[in-house]
Amino acid sequence: MLRTVTCGELALNNLGKEVILAGWVASRRDHGGIIFVDLRDRYGVTQVVFNPESLSPDCFQQVSSLHSEDVIQAKGKVVHRPSGTENSRIATGEIEIAASEIAILNRCPSLPFEIIEEGSVSESVRLSYRYLDLRRPGMQRNLILRHKAAVAARNFLSEQGFVEIETPLLTRSTPEGARDFLVPSRLELGKFYALPQSPQLSKQILMVAGFDRYFQLARCLRDEDLRADRQPEHTQIDLEASFVEPEDIQALVEELVNRVQQAVLDKPLDRKLFPRITYQEAIAAYGSDKPDLRIDSKIEDVTDLFAGSSFEIFRKAAAEGKRVRSLAVSQIELSNTQLKVYQEKALELGAKGLAWIKVNGAEFTSPIAKFISPEILSCLAEQNHIKQGVIFFVADEPVKASVILGIFRLQLAKEFNLISEKSLNFLWVTDFPLLKYSEEEKRLVSVHHPFTAPRPEDISFLDSEPLKVRGLAYDLVLNGTEIGGGSIRIHSSELQKKVFSVLGIPEQDFQEQFGFFLKALEYGAPPHGGLAIGFDRLIATLLGLESIREVIAFPKTQKGACLLTNAPAEIADKQLKELGLRLAIPKPT
Ligand code: ASP
Repeated sequence: MLRTVTCGELALNNLGKEVILAGWVASRRDHGGIIFVDLRDRYGVTQVVFNPESLSPDCFQQVSSLHSEDVIQAKGKVVHRPSGTENSRIATGEIEIAASEIAILNRCPSLPFEIIEEGSVSESVRLSYRYLDLRRPGMQRNLILRHKAAVAARNFLSEQGFVEIETPLLTRSTPEGARDFLVPSRLELGKFYALPQSPQLSKQILMVAGFDRYFQLARCLRDEDLRADRQPEHTQIDLEASFVEPEDIQALVEELVNRVQQAVLDKPLDRKLFPRITYQEAIAAYGSDKPDLRIDSKIEDVTDLFAGSSFEIFRKAAAEGKRVRSLAVSQIELSNTQLKVYQEKALELGAKGLAWIKVNGAEFTSPIAKFISPEILSCLAEQNHIKQGVIFFVADEPVKASVILGIFRLQLAKEFNLISEKSLNFLWVTDFPLLKYSEEEKRLVSVHHPFTAPRPEDISFLDSEPLKVRGLAYDLVLNGTEIGGGSIRIHSSELQKKVFSVLGIPEQDFQEQFGFFLKALEYGAPPHGGLAIGFDRLIATLLGLESIREVIAFPKTQKGACLLTNAPAEIADKQLKELGLRLAIPKPT
């Protein structure tokens, strides 16, 4: 037996017991010839005392040669720590091991960083020595909590009748709006598999197959530029169910999130029912389709108040059909120089200008205040629910005005610490448009993916006014980040073809790419819908961590590189040849 106990479990009730422990040397201290070793493993730390009087000279020699992170096995007896030397900060702090034997199982060279301390180490060093980084208590905690969350999700979904089914990694393209990773086929030269951007088509086909309720902790692979804390592979809690409406999926997901939160934070959600807000409301009131409701301020439409004022610019804007929108931030003070910086930023964002009024009770200070009657000034303060602080104004097309104020809303909240970091704010955003116009591609593209069902009452606008069609889609937002998204799907082959053609995909192309799927829909596809939650982001946010790399064992850098294995790497000419490939660019040096 290499060990009889772990380093985290011994206490006073084990006094006198002969034990064998194994682990890493966290520290070694020489106190007048007696050597104290803190022995660490995943479960905790135990103090082992090596006294030259109870060990052979040979053994003691070995103890004297120990370094941090050497791997040892120690045999000895559990004894009470001498009074006054107990350590209440660790679970094993009242006992120590009076060692009788030691075996060195492996050595460790000097370390690039300390294991015990969570001090700042550059991320590239952490990723290059990920095995040491993962040995640190913080990372161990993160990955263990991630595991608990996964178990909680699995248990909950299984209880609800969901069946976990693995879907292929080598497959055809599933469009989620990113580029595909491709894998060349050796058996059919010149052909390629695509790695799944999500199991979307597979899970829909499982509904056609009658599984009724599917889930998977699915790896999704997207070849994107890795801005903003993205990873080329991420994990989703992916689910799909038949004969459901949006509210069924939303209610299920709220309970799922509750169970995951309970597993990670050991406390249930504050409120079980997440607020629901439509896409249109979210854009108008927060300038974003993923509003952060931890911030109190809300954008108001004050066009009508200005329509009768003598402030020419806003009166004219109102007369031209534009909207005047306002954002009030309470309890802040800004100097005129600071306000100038915001005005410049507004211009950069494409606004014609940014007006402001400082409010202090019934006192209003602003270069534009003289154009506005005292009654309207107090109406503005009242509508914006502000007694002290600053109101900002933008006059423009309604969406543009709100989006610009929405950017300031986030920026001011950050600058003035208006967000309570500890609170978790979940909400649903519903009624997304089905389609949007992509300037880049010069065509309509799906807001979610092409399999999202249009609202039945909007189907008739697909040809005439496609941008007016709303989808039966819903996003789950947590603290201003989209944490999940899903929809009711199209289950009629005809409607699916119609949507492909509205997207401007020629029939020949969609038949070639998705013919198998369109055919499956013809064979008795039930109405169905689902959702996927970004598992990495959910765990990171629950743990209050900025980056999802903190909850992924082996993440990649911004350039998609694994600093541990040096992937991606060149491959041998022989391998290229077997795949029928030749590099059109010189081999990287
Ligand atoms: N496949 C979607 C995604 O990855 C989620 C869904 O619609 O279920 O975002």
